[in-house]
Amino acid sequence: MIIRIKAPPLPAEKIFSRVVCIILLIFLKKSNLFVASLLAMTCFSLFYEFVFYQDFIVSLCYFEYSFYRVESDIIEHQKGLAGIEMSLLVNTVSTQSHHTNAGFRNPFPGFKETKITDFFKWKIFDSLKNGKPQKPKRYYFEIVENNGKYLRENKTDFTVTWIGHSTLLIQMDGMNILTDPIWSERCSPVPFAGPKRFVKPGLALEDLPDIDVVIISHDHYDHLDRTTVKKLGKKPLYLVPSAVSKRLQKWGLDNYKELDWWESLQHNGIEFACMPAQHFSGRTPGDRNRTLWCSWVFRGEKNNFYFAGDSGYFPGFKEIGQRYGPFDLAAIPIGSYMPRWFMRPIHLDPGEAVQALQDVKGKICIPIHWGTFDLADEPLDMPPKELLHNVDKLHLPRENFLILQHGETQVVAGNH
Ligand SMILES: [Zn+2]
Repeated sequence: MIIRIKAPPLPAEKIFSRVVCIILLIFLKKSNLFVASLLAMTCFSLFYEFVFYQDFIVSLCYFEYSFYRVESDIIEHQKGLAGIEMSLLVNTVSTQSHHTNAGFRNPFPGFKETKITDFFKWKIFDSLKNGKPQKPKRYYFEIVENNGKYLRENKTDFTVTWIGHSTLLIQMDGMNILTDPIWSERCSPVPFAGPKRFVKPGLALEDLPDIDVVIISHDHYDHLDRTTVKKLGKKPLYLVPSAVSKRLQKWGLDNYKELDWWESLQHNGIEFACMPAQHFSGRTPGDRNRTLWCSWVFRGEKNNFYFAGDSGYFPGFKEIGQRYGPFDLAAIPIGSYMPRWFMRPIHLDPGEAVQALQDVKGKICIPIHWGTFDLADEPLDMPPKELLHNVDKLHLPRENFLILQHGETQVVAGNH
């Protein structure tokens, strides 16, 4: 059940600015005058509505329509990817239907690929209709003062700490593991624009315990952040889905292992298994779905954990539950889900998140992918309210859903 609040009509200048942006986009696509177009759009958006420029940056990141060669290594990177794809094809194309000649795909029944026209329909025409939840100008999130002292000293307890968005610190079997780490101010290819964080990271990067393993679910900017990865440096082992390691190589790292769906490895007594997800990938023009997306299982001697990454609802959750469940703890994304007609294939809504938890046989749920970056139509604080609404509707115990505050640590199970 989604609470719908009647949206006020858009002022005329906002409609005008969006129409002009579309014309500029078409111009951009048909010409090589990228820089001129971008400058014009920047001036225009600053004058009229800076927020829409940020929307536009999100569209660029997601849908390959601009930022040609923002990073100078793109061409080389893509050449490198071609090599990786070939080796994957040789090894796995006969058994893995998620591989294609150009990269990867979602092979699940009922999955419908999102098109660029759908994106424009969402960003331009949907705004003109009623039925979109109204977003508050400010949000008030509680932040737990976490100085990291307990976490640095802990060698025994199974703990989870929410840093924000999909970034978790998991302490399991004496190992310190980060999921999709992002400490940057924006999830964007450029530092001056793009979705900005509403809440500062719940634990400073400098206050972290020594990190043993970093897992990455896919290469979108809100999940694979170059600045954070560079700061974390060479000490941790990075576990990434197929073809993502070329990116780490370009950033000077060599301490990674790349896994395909259903592959796993042992590291310091924990099995890390790369699991399917229903999502997509891409950071630059022309690299959509060139790298794989995934979820992760950690299986230790005493405890286990499932990290769903970014995913729409798909039959893979049941299979993961059958093969690796039940899980002591499962991190499930609950945010960036509206509008449903657009987001359904790639992002769970809170109701589907409850179903996904049950499918994977998760005992305790940590909701992620909310409350930090504004990436969709719902207000940032709406996903946990919707989650609890669904939990109550199904008469499930609320205490099994740990809605953490930024910086909050919960001990899942102790060894003493
Ligand atoms: Zn994503």
